[in-house]
Amino acid sequence: MLNDQQFLEPLLSQLVTPTFVLDAEGKVLVWNKACERLTGVKADKLIGTNNHWQAFYDDKRNCLADLLVKGKTDELQELYCYHSDNNQFGFHAENWCQIPNVPGHFYLAIDAGAIHNEKGELIAVVETIRDITEQKLAQENLNRLMQDHVTPTFALDAKGEIIIWNKACEQLTNYKAETLIGTKDHWKAFYDVQRDCLADILLKNDTDKIEKLYSLQADNNANEHGLRVENWCQIPNVPGHFYLAIDAAPIFNDAGDLIAVVESLRNMTEAKLAQEELERLSQYDGLTGLANRRSFDLRLKGDWSLAERNHTPLSLLFIDIDHFKQFNDIYGHQLGDDCLKAVASTISGQCLRPSDLSARYGGEEFTIILPATDKAGAQVTAERVRKAVFDLHWEHSGNSAADCVTISIGIGTCIPTKDQLVDTIIKMADESLYKAKEQGRNRII
Ligand code: GH3
Ligand code: MG
Ligand code: MG
Repeated sequence: MLNDQQFLEPLLSQLVTPTFVLDAEGKVLVWNKACERLTGVKADKLIGTNNHWQAFYDDKRNCLADLLVKGKTDELQELYCYHSDNNQFGFHAENWCQIPNVPGHFYLAIDAGAIHNEKGELIAVVETIRDITEQKLAQENLNRLMQDHVTPTFALDAKGEIIIWNKACEQLTNYKAETLIGTKDHWKAFYDVQRDCLADILLKNDTDKIEKLYSLQADNNANEHGLRVENWCQIPNVPGHFYLAIDAAPIFNDAGDLIAVVESLRNMTEAKLAQEELERLSQYDGLTGLANRRSFDLRLKGDWSLAERNHTPLSLLFIDIDHFKQFNDIYGHQLGDDCLKAVASTISGQCLRPSDLSARYGGEEFTIILPATDKAGAQVTAERVRKAVFDLHWEHSGNSAADCVTISIGIGTCIPTKDQLVDTIIKMADESLYKAKEQGRNRII
């Protein structure tokens, strides 16, 4: 034991962290220089006594090291405003202290660990103390600032534990701050399965994960240290889906150390849905629900380039309802619209491959793009479409080709070459359609 002490003392006295050691009876064995500086009490006044509490408190009470010596760690809760469970290094507690010999208040982070001999008997307890007042005050200021902030906001400390969960965040997630503060459970408020939130990613500098976890990573020009993403979320405690815009920003102390990460969330669901609806409207035809002319133009251009690169045939069907002006004249515009819708859905129902695209080209004209399809294949599809429309047996007494609604189809097929324009295939299909009309309608050319 004496040997141990001779070894310990010079080692600990040089430590810059305030540290003291108690023996198995709770008497002070070591009281290092840093501890003298922190408390204003000299080692020679305390060594060999049980009076170390006097350095920290006005009234007699146990220090963290005493609780370990006496095996009374169940009193942690009562004596400290914050503590964490026994880990392999010992016990951790935090407290506001008014050190008798030093003016002011200090927020101390205290760690204590027991040292045992080979027989497992307790021989000493080492307690180290860090003054984290500045950090604590910064945290409390931040908390005050964030608490009434209308944007849902939470903050993690450098260990990833929740230190702030503001009222707006409670409202968004239906999760109370008191169940989360001090834990790492913030993910539970947003997801059903454990995963990193943006704040964790920033804290761990794990930005490679963003692409996998979020649907959109926004430009980070606004804040070079922060991150900004957007995502659909199904918040476990709240019904419905939410589209959230999420920002995470680091907070550094004066020394440049990362002390916290603040994550704020904005519910953008309404704006996102409106934007998606606009996008949908700009791609689809309002009456029939088929792709519109704009989508058709874009797709044909893309499929044309792809076919040129792959040297594969591309086919295009131009479809036109026969004597449709007459139909309107006989049955009225309203029935004309109903008929257009039925023909449109019949046409799209015959596009069997996912790469096929049916579109409303305009008026009573439709088109189908058939990528990687030669003339023979296009003819098979065209005949299927023609027959499906005929099989609707939609009465049309003004049709010279039959007594029901029929369509004529013109096919254009080519293997695009570099010197050809996309108009080539449109012209081919258009000319074929003209011939189909000329030759009596309800047919394919
Ligand atoms: P053809 O057999 O030569 O194609 O004769 P058609 O009468 O179908 O040809 P035309 O192109 O002259 O007439 C197309 C008609 O389609 C004109 C218009 O009354 C009708 N039409 C175009 N768009 C709509 C629409 O949105 N609703 C309705 N009800 N009719 C439409
Ligand atoms: Mg027409
Ligand atoms: Mg027509």
